[in-house]
Amino acid sequence: MHSPKSPAVNRRGFLGLAAGATALAATSGEARAATVQTNAKIVIIGAGAGGTALANRLVERLDGAQITLIDPRKNHLYQPGLTLVAAGLKPADYVLSETTDWLPKDVTLIQEKAAAIDPVAKTVSTEGGQTLSYDFLVVAPGLILDHDAIEGFSLDMVGQNGIGALYAGPEYAAKTWQAASKFIEEGGHGIFTRPGTEMKCAGAPLKHTFLIDDRLRRAGNRGKAEITYGAHDGALFGVPIVSEKVRMLFGDRDIEPVYKHTVKAIDAGAKRVTFNTENGEEEMDYDYIHLIPPQRAPEVIRQSGLSWADKWTDQGWVECDKATLRHLRYPEIWALGDVAGVPKGKTAASVKWQVPVVEDQIVSTIAGSDPSESYNGYTSCPMITKIGRAMLVEFDYNNNLTPSFPGIIPPLEELWISWLMKEVALKATYNAMLRGKA
Ligand SMILES: Cc1cc2nc3c(=O)[nH]c(=O)nc-3n(C[C@H](O)[C@H](O)[C@H](O)COP(=O)(O)OP(=O)(O)OC[C@H]3O[C@@H](n4cnc5c(N)ncnc54)[C@H](O)[C@@H]3O)c2cc1C
Repeated sequence: MHSPKSPAVNRRGFLGLAAGATALAATSGEARAATVQTNAKIVIIGAGAGGTALANRLVERLDGAQITLIDPRKNHLYQPGLTLVAAGLKPADYVLSETTDWLPKDVTLIQEKAAAIDPVAKTVSTEGGQTLSYDFLVVAPGLILDHDAIEGFSLDMVGQNGIGALYAGPEYAAKTWQAASKFIEEGGHGIFTRPGTEMKCAGAPLKHTFLIDDRLRRAGNRGKAEITYGAHDGALFGVPIVSEKVRMLFGDRDIEPVYKHTVKAIDAGAKRVTFNTENGEEEMDYDYIHLIPPQRAPEVIRQSGLSWADKWTDQGWVECDKATLRHLRYPEIWALGDVAGVPKGKTAASVKWQVPVVEDQIVSTIAGSDPSESYNGYTSCPMITKIGRAMLVEFDYNNNLTPSFPGIIPPLEELWISWLMKEVALKATYNAMLRGKA
């Protein structure tokens, strides 16, 4: 379990912290342990949510370390904002900033893709041909969206002929809103899907469904529309009590769930989707479809022998201990964020709790002391159920609900305060996390 320096603050989860981000920043700064002298070479692959937050924390803890981040992307993406962009609630640039804006001055950024890792020689090679040796490596490259796995689909289709794909980035989230707007005006059959693989923010497909349903109602056009939600397995969400709540809300809103349906192919011209189901293939016609592709660990992970050999074999998540995130075969390597092969936790909120664990692991290893932090699977999904209402769903590896404000904000009620957490406070907290302050 975590060993909170300040129990009053640390007891709260990611979203709880949103309400008290300033207090937290001060508290965690004060509570941070003394720095450790070292000349260790630390390489971090990925300067997204996890890599950036960790770099900011490590520079505070390690004096003399050579910290190198590798990431080709110039823009930092605040991905939780994509759902808002795809519902016409925020402009596309709401999610954009510069990667370099968030990095501490004492780290080196190599703006290239990591192409290969040799965990035995302890080197990382970049696409541009550089080879870096490391004492400690953190892999935080997020995940890849495998759009090619959907037959008949390509990203240039998004925004036209009723096709949405909000995960693909801000431009595509904005185009998704264009396609969804036409559906909201004209009605017809809307189909909302999710992939059969593990995915980041498993609540986002549901949020998009709820938001478009709400938009139809506000436009007075819900009567002209039929909505189908395709779940990949037998539930609507991985936590049974949340799944049941969503099922009830779907019933209230006349959203029809179909189970064990994963998208195989689309025919964009005919506006027809083919699902794989337990009874074979099934076709459905649509006027609007929201597609989220299968998600996998980036190539560099899968080809460098870091993945689990006996789990998620089609997806390649990193083989690591679920409490410490340390690689099970290569003790100098940790996985952080979406790429980690742990049973829960592909959210920025999870990253917030994982970063101090990896920090503690690396600093303790260097200092020769025992690490004390561990990750309990904390995952959070502010589940928007309509504009102005959300449920603050937070849970751990054991599917226990772990509310940030027990007794004050009930997790399974649609509340305005929970909406505010997502719509306003989450970004401030996320930014504080990037800076290593939350
Ligand atoms: C639509 C949507 C809604 C979401 N909503 C929420 C929400 O409400 N709440 C929440 O907590 N989370 C939410 N998330 C999830 C959250 O954004 C991610 O879980 C989080 O960003 C994961 O952080 P990460 O550091 O693992 O990956 P990322 O933040 O994706 O960063 C990975 C970085 O690695 C880089 N990279 C990739 N490959 C390589 C390579 N080979 N070499 C070098 N660098 C590489 C990338 O360029 C990127 O900068 C949402 C995500 C999406 C898509």
